[in-house]
Formats: sequence, structure tokens, C-alpha cells
Amino acid sequence: MALSDLNPVERNEEGIAAVLGILKQQFGERFQTGEAIRGQHAHTTTYIPTQAPDGVVFVESTAEVQEIVRTCAAHRVPVIAFGVGSSLEGHTNAPGGGISIDTSRMNRILSVNPQDLDCTVEPGVTREDLNRHLRDTGLFFPIDPGANASLGGMAATRASGTNAVRYGTMRENVLSLTAVMADGEAVTTGKRAKKSSAGYDLTRLLVGSEGTLGIITSLTLRLQGIPQAISGGVCPFPTLEAACNTVIATIQMGIPVARIELVNALQMRAMKNYSKLDYPESPCLFVEFHGSDAGVAEQAETFGMIAEENGGGPFLWTSVAEERTKLWKARHDAYWSSLTLRPGAKGLSTDVCVPISRLAECVTETEADIAEMGLIAPIVGHAGDGNFHVLVLMDVDNPKEIALAEKFVGRLNMRAIAMEGTCTGEHGIGQGKVGFLRHELGHGVDVMRTIKQALDPLNIMNPGKILPGAG
Ligand SMILES: Cc1cc2nc3c(=O)[nH]c(=O)nc-3n(C[C@H](O)[C@H](O)[C@H](O)COP(=O)(O)OP(=O)(O)OC[C@H]3O[C@@H](n4cnc5c(N)ncnc54)[C@H](O)[C@@H]3O)c2cc1C
Repeated sequence: MALSDLNPVERNEEGIAAVLGILKQQFGERFQTGEAIRGQHAHTTTYIPTQAPDGVVFVESTAEVQEIVRTCAAHRVPVIAFGVGSSLEGHTNAPGGGISIDTSRMNRILSVNPQDLDCTVEPGVTREDLNRHLRDTGLFFPIDPGANASLGGMAATRASGTNAVRYGTMRENVLSLTAVMADGEAVTTGKRAKKSSAGYDLTRLLVGSEGTLGIITSLTLRLQGIPQAISGGVCPFPTLEAACNTVIATIQMGIPVARIELVNALQMRAMKNYSKLDYPESPCLFVEFHGSDAGVAEQAETFGMIAEENGGGPFLWTSVAEERTKLWKARHDAYWSSLTLRPGAKGLSTDVCVPISRLAECVTETEADIAEMGLIAPIVGHAGDGNFHVLVLMDVDNPKEIALAEKFVGRLNMRAIAMEGTCTGEHGIGQGKVGFLRHELGHGVDVMRTIKQALDPLNIMNPGKILPGAG
């Protein structure tokens, strides 16, 4: 069975036809039904087959989102929120058709409060746009998934990335949000206070809900001061295990590392060729430290000693901005460099996360599994969080290769869960990981279903995602 068949959602042809007519009248040119644009709003960066929505609306306000949701609810038609489409598990697919709500025109930064270290933005603002806007304030927003994702999409997938080991994930960095719920009402989940004990935590219910409970139309985010000094570098290791053990010791010693990224030998080969890096083709850690001049130097030296004790090194580090930028650009381009390992292939990008003490075991077992299954699949990881990614390169026109890749992903997910970890540290469930949620959470899935049914009784909010059999 293909992953996309896992949660079939029945099409409501009559309802869809009615909604298409109404939205055309209400939104004119901002409502599009062309095949290309509908396809772009289903999926781009995954091998999961595209299931296009029936129409795309480019919204500009909360009131417009409310209007669309009410229309869709009246006709029982799915609504699927869309940021920039960089999610990796079929999140924006429309298995039962419906309307894609594109938030890219809701891209205003509504307020920045430097004294309180927070800002309020519309969901279509991307993380790079926000950081460009903040540059002169001495502040920045630290969450950094590889792609230039929208902040609404990042909240909806509970994204993290390279900086999470120091600054947390979207879970820790969204103070409150406004969302249009399935009945068309807009709900604001909190104020700007740094903490609150006021009732159920609706912010964290909606963060990570992948558009299945509500459509986020504004977010209040925590900001950080740009550090006085930043140092960083790359450290090679003889084995993957030695690199992982260095990560574990670094975290357990409480070194406040800002980024600590694991790259295996195969990924290093791809990065050397694609990004012209001059490092050995062996497992490496990319690290970065934030603080004062003296602080970052001290952290770098302590890290270098730990690496050496584990057989790694030399650890070459620098405070020169251009050199660091080159390294992190190479790290962020890891996905694209991997594709050069097998020209013409597509990548299945999957992520798992385990308690840090199990990282070495999980990564080395996974690398052995890749070899045993004869796959080409480089590994990179936000290792400081126990989170790593595998990109399986495959011919998507070959069903045997797809089946093998899915078998590998299944084994990886079950390995992580068996090690008291999770089948996804940051990409989310979407369609691709629906089958693993119950293995991980058991009865917790039934509680999630009860919440979903209470908040979205008609099942119009991104149906077929997260919950098994939710369509
Ligand atoms: C090369 C590459 C590297 C990546 N690296 C990382 C990484 O290191 N860490 C990481 O966490 N992720 C990573 N990702 C995944 C991706 O960037 C994240 O999932 C991102 O958070 C999705 O944001 P988006 O704007 O693209 O959302 P979309 O893909 O448009 O949508 C994602 C989901 O959120 C929902 N959604 C979107 N906007 C809203 C809204 N306003 N309200 C409610 N629901 C909404 C959608 O319905 C969908 O379910 C990577 C992706 C790529 C392509």
C-alpha cells in the first residue's frame, strides 16, 4: 500500500463544486484553479505522490481566512493551510481535494518589542524575512530549519533545526498565537507575558498540529539578543561512534553549545564536492558557540579537548564571520549536495530523535542497516538534541526501491521508538508517519482523536494527516 493511500479521504464533489463557485466570486484573481498552481500547493520536496487541492486562495487577513473556513464548513470541504511548502511528509497534500489557503500574502511584521524581546507577525513571514527586519535592533529569531520556511508553517510543524540545542524549538519560542478554528471563530491563545498558568495551554496544542485543528493567522514569538561573539568550526572523527560520544559528553558537561551538527562520511563526501569544503571524508561535527569573546574561546577549547579524548581532531575553529558562513551554508545545503551522490534520484528525507545517551547506538545501528540494505543514504543530524536525518536516494519510478526505502524508514522509526525516542523530532507526521504514531504513543492517539473530533467535528481541517484513519 502506498503511503498516500494510508488515510484515504472521501471527496465531496457537490460541496467542492459549490465552494469553487463561491470563492471565485469572492476572491476573483486571488482564487486560482490552474493545474500547475494546484500541484505546487500539494507537494514539492517529498517523494509522496502529489494530491492537489481543487483551488488555492491567496489570503490577506484573518477575516478572509474566517470567511473561507465558514464557507468550507457549510459545504463540508477540506481546508489546507499553506506556508511555503517545504514540509517533508506530504503535509500539504489534499487527499480528499479541497481548498489550499496560501498565507504568503499575510507577510506583515505587526510589532517588535525590543524591551520585552518579542515580536508579533503574520504567518506568511519567513524566518529570513524576520531576521532581515530585526537586524538593526540587535535581536534575532533563532529557529532555523534548513529551508526559508514561513513562521506559520514552522509553528504548525513544531519545527526546530541547527540552533535548537541552545534556543529550543518552536514549542519554546511561540508565546501565543491567533488561529481560525473549524467553526470560523478566531481564537487568541495568550498575551505577551513570558509565562502563564492561565488554563489549558492552547498555544502548545496548536503548535505542531499541522493545520489539523486551526489556521494560524498571527504569532507572537520570543526573540534573542545577537551574541557579542560567535566562534565555530569543524572537527573530524575516525568513527561515527566517536563523533556521537563527543556530542554526548559535550551536552552532559553543560557546555552551552549553540549548534552541534553531525555529518557522516558519505554526507561529507557530498558536501566536499558540492560546497568545496576542504575536510577529510570522515564523520565530522560542525559546531558553533555564542557568548562573549572570552566565553566562546573557552567553549571552543573545552570542546576541542573532549573531541581529542574521543580520538577526534584537529578541531579548527574561527571567529571570522565569512569562514563560518561558508561552513554553515555548506551544512544548510546538505540536502542539495546529497542529491549529487546519485544524479537523477529523489530524496526521501526522514528524521528521528532519541535521548542523547542513545544517540551513538541509534546512529551506528542505522548506518549498519543502510549498508546491509544496499541503500545510498547519507546521515546528518542536530546531534545535540539526539535528532538525526537520513536522506534515502532512490528512483521514484521504481516500486521496488520505494518499498525498500519505506522498509528502511519503518525499521529506523521502530528503532528510535524502542530506544525511548520518537519517529520524528522535527519534520512532523503529515501522511508519511501516520503509521508510527500509535507505536509511539499508544492510547495517547485516542486522546488526540477526541480533541480533533471536539474541535473539528466535520473533519475539514487538513484531513488525512497525523491521525491514523482520520479521513
Ligand atoms: C532542505 C530542507 C531542510 C529542512 N530542514 C529542516 C530542519 O532542519 N528542521 C525542521 O524542523 N524542518 C526542516 N525542514 C522541513 C520544513 O522546512 C519544515 O517542516 C517547515 O517548518 C514547514 O514550513 P512551511 O512554511 O514550508 O510549511 P508548509 O510546508 O507550507 O506546511 C506545513 C504544514 O503546516 C501547515 N500550515 C502551514 N501554514 C499554516 C498556518 N498558518 N496555520 C496552520 N497550519 C499551517 C500545513 O497545512 C502543513 O500541514 C526542511 C525542509 C527542507 C526542504
